[in-house]
Amino acid sequence: MADRMLLRGGYIMTMDAELGDLRQGDVLVEGDTIGEVGASVDAGDAEVIDATGRIVMPGFVDTHRHTWETAIRGSAPNATLDDYFVEILDTFAPQYRAEDVYASNLAGALECINAGITTLVDWSHINNTPDHPDAAIQGLKDAGIRAQYAYGSANTSLADYWFESKLAIPRDDVERIRNTYFSSDDGLLTMALATRGPGFCVEEVVREEWTMARDLGIPITLHIAMGRVAGRFGMVNMLNELGLLGPDTTYIHCCYNSDEEWKLLADSGGTVSIAPLVEMQMGHGRPPTGKSLEHGLRPSLSIDVVTTVPGDMFSQIRAAFGSEREGVCGVAWKEDVNIPETTVTARDMLQFATLNGAHVAGVEDRTGSLVPGKKADIILVDTTGPGVAPLIDPAAMVALSADVSNIETVIINGEVRKRDFKLVGDWDRARGLVENARDHLISQVPRQERWTAVG
Ligand SMILES: [Zn+2]
Repeated sequence: MADRMLLRGGYIMTMDAELGDLRQGDVLVEGDTIGEVGASVDAGDAEVIDATGRIVMPGFVDTHRHTWETAIRGSAPNATLDDYFVEILDTFAPQYRAEDVYASNLAGALECINAGITTLVDWSHINNTPDHPDAAIQGLKDAGIRAQYAYGSANTSLADYWFESKLAIPRDDVERIRNTYFSSDDGLLTMALATRGPGFCVEEVVREEWTMARDLGIPITLHIAMGRVAGRFGMVNMLNELGLLGPDTTYIHCCYNSDEEWKLLADSGGTVSIAPLVEMQMGHGRPPTGKSLEHGLRPSLSIDVVTTVPGDMFSQIRAAFGSEREGVCGVAWKEDVNIPETTVTARDMLQFATLNGAHVAGVEDRTGSLVPGKKADIILVDTTGPGVAPLIDPAAMVALSADVSNIETVIINGEVRKRDFKLVGDWDRARGLVENARDHLISQVPRQERWTAVG
């Protein structure tokens, strides 16, 4: 059989409840699929990748990122959510050309791969013209990442598209994209609808968009219960009143859900994406990892915006871990009791960042754990360099010590996309394009006060 590859002699963290960890083992990749996972796999003449001193695990899953913002990375370092609406969505977004979206998605997806993120939910509310979604999808395709492309609204003016908006996402174009690129749901790229939801648009639009997604058989993803404004909308309650809650929907942030809303969300089979750094830095509220678990949900992690936070999963894992434990320990301090043993662990964080992410992105049947039959989305994390050696507990090492510089190999759908610590894809081309996009975008907007060192 062609294209056989053996990852030999690594510490294998399958993230599967039954298979667990193998202290030393092999993973056989056959074509795009995981063929075998075992202590010793005889693979004949397969290409061998030496995994000695490496942790072999599933790639991370980022369940929500506005990848189009790659070109304006770091432009809003101190922004709150309110500032972000003005500075990013109302200032930069209307200036985006299709080529800027392509450059951002290509560079942003390569950035993910470099950081060990093998699946990305691209929350793409930048469809200023019908060329924009095609450009976004082409960028993801050219990078070779597994992604759920979430088709969102245009961003030509904040007044038109947010807060009591009467403009629905154009159904004919969503249908065109569905038919052109996503005739099957089995590909490396799948599709979702990135909606605004009640409070951000009028009821008819909410109904129209939910109906559209369900008619086309694509899942729904929306931001809820974040920040000063949307935290008070009660969006889950509103969706419940409209009869629109369902298992096909991902709820991002959820910082100010009421207990009643948590219950409604969980009972409906909905899923949760938490963006810990953005939530803490920008005023969305406390990252609700513990709250999700309390309600039997399987929280996932997401990066959200690289205008304000880093684009890697390690930063999110640590932010969520610190925040969750600070919350629990703070309550214990107040009540003068011992810290409960149920507090989340470093390994839980890896579960959130891999298998739970696959669940939330609707691809748990094909990725998120190293199980024979699933697609080969695998990373090798070096444990021999400074900052990671010596190794005692592999889960702790990945969750708490490693960073992007320790991601040695990245395999997506059986293809090696990073090897010997270097991206296989053409980063120089991507960087050129995304720097050109940055130059264009910055030239189109008034100088922002926050850019202390730009231009
Ligand atoms: Zn977001």
